[in-house]
Amino acid sequence: MNDSQQAQSLAILVRQLNAAGHNPATSGNYSLRSLALPGYALVSESGIDKSLFEAQNLIPIEINTGRAHPSLGHGRRSSDETALHLVLYRLTQAGAVLHSHHLDSLLFADLYPGKTVLRLGGLELLKGFKGIKSHEEVIELPALENSQDMAVLALEVQTALNLYPSTWGFLLRGHGLYVWGESLAEAKRHLEVFEYVFKYHVHQKR
Ligand SMILES: [Zn+2]
Repeated sequence: MNDSQQAQSLAILVRQLNAAGHNPATSGNYSLRSLALPGYALVSESGIDKSLFEAQNLIPIEINTGRAHPSLGHGRRSSDETALHLVLYRLTQAGAVLHSHHLDSLLFADLYPGKTVLRLGGLELLKGFKGIKSHEEVIELPALENSQDMAVLALEVQTALNLYPSTWGFLLRGHGLYVWGESLAEAKRHLEVFEYVFKYHVHQKR
């Protein structure tokens, strides 16, 4: 796998996720840890209609500084939420980060108002998370209040990762879900598990 191959795979996935309701109105953003440029992530460009997303809409951003790679032309800018992707690459082994605005992630968070962490257990599909061997194990999913201040949110993500280091995602209330994995395939699988768990609880409460 090289950067061009993983970027192609991510672009296909983004278009599929868009068709499944994860990215209304250009929302959501995606990234990969670069294999060719050490210390860089490839982060989705701001404001792209995700039904038209292509590999070249991923742009190289330095993980420690948030600066675009010098090779990048002017006038292109990565997602407004880039800082949240970068904190995940700094603090975890993430190889890919997916950010969905799927309605079920909002409805699920609303089932548990005021809680800062949601504990998921009891479902066989939880074994889709790396390291989970039994439906009896519990996954801790931090739930953060939304904010437009990405520096503040990035600090809150950092705190949540310190408290719950084995998590594979976090919710932003009224906003969506961030999920990651050590590879793109693993991140996709983790997103599918979260989506299934959210649907289960949202339907169950009806
Ligand atoms: Zn978002």
